[in-house]
Parts: sequence; C-alpha cells; structure tokens
Amino acid sequence: MFIVSAALNVCRITAPPGRTETTTSCGVSMEWTAERVELLKELWGEGLSARQIAESLGHVTRNAVIGKAHRLGLSTRSVPSKPTIAMLNPVTDRLCQWPIGNPGESGFHFCGQQADAGRPYCGQHCSMAYRQTSDSSAA
Ligand SMILES: [Zn+2]
Repeated sequence: MFIVSAALNVCRITAPPGRTETTTSCGVSMEWTAERVELLKELWGEGLSARQIAESLGHVTRNAVIGKAHRLGLSTRSVPSKPTIAMLNPVTDRLCQWPIGNPGESGFHFCGQQADAGRPYCGQHCSMAYRQTSDSSAA
C-alpha cells in the first residue's frame, strides 16, 4: 500500500524532453491516456488553474499538468503579450481574439471587435500584435 499524497510530495517529474512521462521516478502511475489529455485540454481551455485540473484528473500533480500542457503547447495562457490563445478558441471567426486580462481570472475576455480581413485581430490589436512579432527574434 502507499499513500498518494505523501508519494506525490517526493515525486519529481523530471522526464527529459522527448520522453513520454508515463511514470514518475517513484513509480506512481500517471498515464496520459487520450481521454485524460482531452480532459486536460478542455479544462485548460476553460481557464482552470493547473491545480484544479490536477484535482479533476486525479493521480497527477500540478507540476505534471503544467508540464503536459507545456508539451501540448497550451502553456502560454498566462502570458497574454504573445496571444497564441487564438488556437484555443477557433470558433470566434472574424472577431478580434486579442485576450483582455489574464485567462483564468474573472474579467478575462477577448476583444471581440470586428477583425481585419484575413487577420485574427482588430486594427488596433493587429498593430500591437505585429509590432511585437517584428520586434521579437523568434522566427
Ligand atoms: Zn481587438
């Protein structure tokens, strides 16, 4: 027998990049089945905190949720300065998807103005988005 909470406290989830994280170093099972990954994505998209998601999934730590979300490309939500959040909300077509506030916090919403043709943001936010992109060294 083992006590999950105690075990999780000593677990370090340190799977190197490229390795699947099916087990922790202390052997607690925490498989990322397709179902659990879908649930993670869904809850993450709803703006739940990593801790809330971990509690919903069960048998995973908050750090595991963050790590998994990171690998899924979901982990930029707390940094709205580079709004890749558009991919989390593909249903908003033709409306500005610039995030206002911090996802997960009350008051968070998308701009919602009419977007420029062929662009995900309104004119004002396009100028902000593309100025940021051009200043960045990222490819
Ligand atoms: Zn806007």
